[in-house]
Order: sequence, then structure tokens, then C-alpha cells
Amino acid sequence: MWFKDGPLFAAIYELTAEGVFETYDYAPVSILGLDGFHRFMNISIEGKDDLDDLRELGLLNHMKISTTTYGTVTAYRLSEKGMNIYAELPRKLTEPISKLVHCPKHKNKLMEIVCVNFEKYFLRCPSCSNEREIPIFEIEDVSYVSQPRFIRLPYRKRR
Ligand SMILES: [Zn+2]
Repeated sequence: MWFKDGPLFAAIYELTAEGVFETYDYAPVSILGLDGFHRFMNISIEGKDDLDDLRELGLLNHMKISTTTYGTVTAYRLSEKGMNIYAELPRKLTEPISKLVHCPKHKNKLMEIVCVNFEKYFLRCPSCSNEREIPIFEIEDVSYVSQPRFIRLPYRKRR
């Protein structure tokens, strides 16, 4: 299964916000969407760095996909080596992830990540109406002075 970077970042955000990825943090990052507009998304920089590390270790495959509108998106998939390692991970590590990405009613149904109008992401069960919003576009107010961080994603043009 290939994961495009948008839904993948939404999944990483969800797992970070839910406390599964305990060591991750996230920050608003300006992202150029496939519709050609920039908008802020809560992106985990650590998550993005780890994706790069997994790629370098040969555990994650990636490919660039050209879009009909604006540039390219990157898609990711575990390599065979990555899948073998995942299969051997202790259940203590994989269970909280598994719980969040499966339908609460159909325990063995993987939820789909759906993006609506480039504005909202949902986890949605393909078998029932169960869905949950991933508030990746909801930028939280911060009480301290902070600078939004900008990172260059593959489909963001170099200046
Ligand atoms: Zn369901």
C-alpha cells in the first residue's frame, strides 16, 4: 500500500496528537497544496526526519508522482525489509497504532484517510459511517512567541 505524503503526515499528526508517538512534536508549516494554495498544516518535523532515516536504512520505499496540476507528490511504502521488521515489533508498540487506525466497530477494518477539499482530513471506515476528523489544519494558539517553521517538502518549489 502506497501512502501519499499528505495523508501520511495526517496519520503522523494524529498519532502524535494522540500521544502514541510520544517523542514527536508538531508545528504549523506552510504547505503548497495540490490546488496551488499555501496553507498551514501541523507537521511533525521529527516524523519527517524519521521518514528520511527509514529511507536511508532501506526500510521505506518512495516514489515521486507527477500531478496534473502542481508539481509532484511523494508516496511511501514499507519495503519488504521494513515489513519484516514491523512484523517482529513487540505488540506493546504496534497495538496503540493499530487501535487508532482501525474502525472501533469493525476491529479488523482499516480506516481510510480521506482529504476533503484540501481543507479537512478524516479517518473513515469503508464499511460503516464511522469517521473521525484529523485536525491537522487547526493551528493552535500558542501563548509564547513563536515563529512558524518552514520546511521544504518535495512538491514545494525552491525559492
Ligand atoms: Zn466500521
